[in-house]
Formats: sequence, structure tokens, C-alpha cells
Amino acid sequence: VFLPVNTSYKTEELSYFIKDSRPTLIVSQENALRGLEVMVQDIGANTLTLNSDGSGSLKQALVSRPEIFETVTRKSDDLAALLYTSGTTGRSKGAMLTHGNLLSNSRVLVEQWQITDQDVLIHALPVFHTHGLFVAMNTALIAGMTVNFMDGFNIDEIVNAQERSTVMMGVPTFYTRLLNDERLNSNLTRNMRLFISGSAPLLAEVHDAFYDRTGHKILERYGMTETNMNTSNPLLGERLAGTVGMALKGIEIRITEFETGKILENGDTGIIEVRGENVFKGYWNLPKKTAQEFRDDGFFITGDLGYLTERRYLCIVGRQKDLIITGGLNVYPKEIEDLLNKISGVHESAVFGVPHDDFGEQVVAAIVPDSGMKIEISSLRLIVEAKLARFKHPREYVVISKLPRNMMGKVTKNILRNNYK
Ligand code: AMP
Repeated sequence: VFLPVNTSYKTEELSYFIKDSRPTLIVSQENALRGLEVMVQDIGANTLTLNSDGSGSLKQALVSRPEIFETVTRKSDDLAALLYTSGTTGRSKGAMLTHGNLLSNSRVLVEQWQITDQDVLIHALPVFHTHGLFVAMNTALIAGMTVNFMDGFNIDEIVNAQERSTVMMGVPTFYTRLLNDERLNSNLTRNMRLFISGSAPLLAEVHDAFYDRTGHKILERYGMTETNMNTSNPLLGERLAGTVGMALKGIEIRITEFETGKILENGDTGIIEVRGENVFKGYWNLPKKTAQEFRDDGFFITGDLGYLTERRYLCIVGRQKDLIITGGLNVYPKEIEDLLNKISGVHESAVFGVPHDDFGEQVVAAIVPDSGMKIEISSLRLIVEAKLARFKHPREYVVISKLPRNMMGKVTKNILRNNYK
């Protein structure tokens, strides 16, 4: 059972993952386990080293090993990996993923995105996260796609790779960075057949700007550590900006009222639930937590809020934990962010709730102006007040130079909430 960890974790964090998962073998760079020797010994784990240049005791140990090994049969329900969730609220949990979860999902993606051995993938994503690890690597392994593996996002490398590649899998920030580069145009991307985005919301404006510059409609898809991929815009049908597409083959998506589980009509916003072979087995050592996140009929409660259109395209409006409840009324941050982002001079925004004595929470908007622009908060207020009901109006606006984001490009609203409470 493979457990990759974020390469930027420090001793304290590593200690948590080792203690929680109790591995039998730890492979790391030399010195990465310094300070953890006693604990590693206590849990009885073996250790081997592997450095970025390929050297280390792992390599030495392999020298004396036969090149042929016996294949061990695995069942679909056997665990293949433990992937820890990013844990922006509370402690990080180990998602138990089975061989069946991984294989079925990769097969469906290969089929729906028509990946073949003629494809060359630009891969600049971290390989400790489901996106770079499973979506990218497993589809490549199944289809025989060539992987152009990069050590992180480097704009020159990505630009130079376009002419020799056919597919790119990225997070939205990849696309905004590419749009900021004047080398991006339809000539540069003429060999590419597919740009895929996921892991965080892709703004419709970014989707449209990319299309204007390159003639490519970015294909947005939606997934999470616990479920692998759930939905995708179609390869051949209409790719709708601002939506994450339709349920993948064999996967069911429904929208429910969180408290009662009542299934909602198309167009109504509620909690997104998923059922299918893609859905994980549960959280490692947390049976109670696992039970809470599943409905009796096997649907997993994702914690994301969204609605389905009449054509069953899914639109995500945010995480349930980011929902703001002010004076008993629900405020969906995305609705306000979408409006703010359209205002000239606003580069991007994040709307979040902070505690309020009377209303429970109050709405705050963080605004990132376009570079070199000064934003008049009073004019933002006027626009918002003309378009939205009073309870949704941000009571406070803060102007910042950059939104805090994690490695996958997700805005870390918990940091904003802490900073501006
Ligand atoms: P992770 O487990 O780190 O992959 O995070 C999964 C979460 O990322 C989901 O529950 C969503 O909140 C978010 N996410 C993933 N893909 C998208 C997308 N295309 N649009 C909006 N949010 C997304």
C-alpha cells in the first residue's frame, strides 16, 4: 500500500503521517527522517534512502536482487494507496483507495479523453496528490502515453514543451500563468489536442481568454482525493465554461439537501454526492468519520456544494465549509466572487465569512486589483448593492496583492478567515 507524502513536509508533519499510517518501509531522501529515528524504530519500520540523483540505499539494495519477480495477484477491493487529504479544516485523514478505485477511474478517463500511445503529456504537477499521481500517471501507464515529466511549473519549460506535446493536465494557475506570457498563441499550441484543468475552480474568464488566444477550449473536470475523478466536460461535445461537466461513465452524481438527504431538482443548490467504483473505501482508522460521510445507499457526501443544469452539467459553487451563514441566511461566496471578478480593475477575489456577534457570521471580500490599478471600494460597493440582496453584501472589503493558495492552486480560505476575523 503506497503512501506518498508532500515533499515540503517538515519533521513535525512527517511524524504525524508515520505515526498515523504505521508503514513497514519508509523510502526518503537522506536526512529526511532526522529527529524521527526513535519513533521509526518504535513502530518497527525499515528505512531506505533515495536521493533526487537516484543514489541511495534503495538502489544499492536492488543490485543484489533478481530482475524478475513474481507478480502478486491483487483483488479489486485490496488497498492500493493511502492518500492523505490536504486537511485545511482539522486533521488530515488517510483516504483508503483500492486497486478497483484506481483502475476503473483511469480506464474511464483514458476512454473519455481518448488517450493513446501517440499522446505526449506535459506533466508539471506534484506526484503526491491525486491529480499528478493518479489522473496523470495511471492514464499514461494504461494508454502508453509518453510523459514529459517536469520538476514543477517552469514557464519556459512549459512553453517550450508545447510543440512536442499533445496533452497538458494542469491546475487553473497554470493557465493564468500561461495567459500572462506573450509567447502563448495558436501557433505555439498547434500540436496540442487537449488542455485539461482541475483541482480548483477555473474562472470562466480564464477559459474564454485561453480560447481567444489559442483556439483551445480548456476541458475542466472535477474530482477529489477520496473519489478520484467524478465528472468531466466532454472531449467531443460542448465544453461549458464555469461547469465541471457531466458524471463520468458508471458514476452517479446527485444533489441533496445536506440535513435531510432529500434529492433536489436540477437547478437547486445543495451538497454534491457521488456513487461508483471510483469512491474510496473509507478513512484510515476512522470508521466513525467514514460512516458519517456516507448515506445508507452508498453515496459519498463530498462536502462540495453545487447544482446540476437541465443538461446535467455540474456547477460547483464552493465547499460546504466555506458557505457563509449570516443571520440564518445562506450566502454562497462564488456568487459574489463571480460578480466582483467581472468588475473592471478587479483581478480576482475571495469572499469568506468571519464570526459576528449578532449575525453568527458576516461577509468579507478580499480583492486583488489588476496590476498597477487602484481600486475604489466605494464603487465596488455600489455595483454589488445594485445587483445582490442586502444580506449578501460584504460588510468589509480588504485589498490584498495576492490570494493565499495551497500547492494545488486552491484558495486557502481558512487563512483569510484567520487573518481578517
Ligand atoms: P483534493 O482532495 O485535494 O483533490 O481536493 C478536492 C476538492 O477540490 C474538491 O472537493 C473540490 O472542492 C475542489 N475541486 C477539484 N476540482 C475542482 C474543479 N474543477 N472546480 C472546483 N473545485 C474543484
